[in-house]
Amino acid sequence: MPPLTALGTYRIEYLTLADARGSDARFHEQQIPRAHSARMSVEMAAEFTVGGSKLVLLEGDITKTPADAIVNAANSSLAGGGGVDGAIHRAGGPSIMRELDEIRPKIGRCPAGDAVVTGAGKLPAKYVIHAVGPVYRDGKHGEPEQLASCYRTALRLAREKGATTLTFPAISTGVYGYPMADAACISLQTVIDYLQTHPEIELARFVLFGKRAYDTFEQVLRELVG
Ligand code: ADP
Repeated sequence: MPPLTALGTYRIEYLTLADARGSDARFHEQQIPRAHSARMSVEMAAEFTVGGSKLVLLEGDITKTPADAIVNAANSSLAGGGGVDGAIHRAGGPSIMRELDEIRPKIGRCPAGDAVVTGAGKLPAKYVIHAVGPVYRDGKHGEPEQLASCYRTALRLAREKGATTLTFPAISTGVYGYPMADAACISLQTVIDYLQTHPEIELARFVLFGKRAYDTFEQVLRELVG
C-alpha cells in the first residue's frame, strides 16, 4: 500500500469579495469566484500526502484553481466541446484553440489515452494538457487502460514542461459516461502510483464538479488509504 496519509478534510467558504475583505476567513482572495454574487457557498476539500507530494481533492471549477498545468478532458478531434472542455476554452480565450489548430494537422486525431499541450491563455496556469479520455461502453473495451493512460501521459507531459503543480478534472465522467466510482478508482490509483516515483510533482489536485463527484472521489480515496 502506498504511503498515503490523510492530512484533513475542510470546508472552504466562498464569500463575495467585499465580505472576504472584511472577514478573517483564512483563504486566498484568488480562490473567490469573481462573479460570485451569493453571500456564501460552501465547498469541500481534502488533503493527503503521497511520499513527498500532496494530493488534494477539491469541489469546484477547474478554470478557477491556479496550477502550473490544468488538464482538460478533450476529445479526439481537439476541436473543443462542451463540459469542462468548453469551460476551459471560454475562460482561457481563443489563443488555446489557435495553438490546437496548429497541432491538429501535424498529428491528426489524438487517440484516447493520449494528450497534447498548449499554453493556457487567460487561465491561472502556464499550460493546458488536453487529455483524451475513453468513451465508456462496458469497461471491457480497454477503457480502464485508456483512462489510466490519460493521467500518466498528462503527468509525463507536465514533468517534461517543468510543471510541478497540476489540476485534473474527472476525465470521461461527463458526456463520455464513465461510472464515477470506477473512474475515481482508476484515476486516483494512477496518480498515486505516479507521485510515488516522481516526487518532483509537488501537488496533484482533482477539481470535482459538484458534490456527487466530490463525495465519490473522497470515499474512493479513503478506501484506497485503507
Ligand atoms: P468527458 O467527455 O471526458 O466525459 P466532460 O467535460 O463531459 O468530459 O466531463 C468530465 C467531468 O468534468 C464531469 O465530471 C463534469 O461534471 C466535469 N466538469 C464540467 N465542467 C467542469 C469545470 N468547470 N470544472 C471541473 N470539472 C468540470
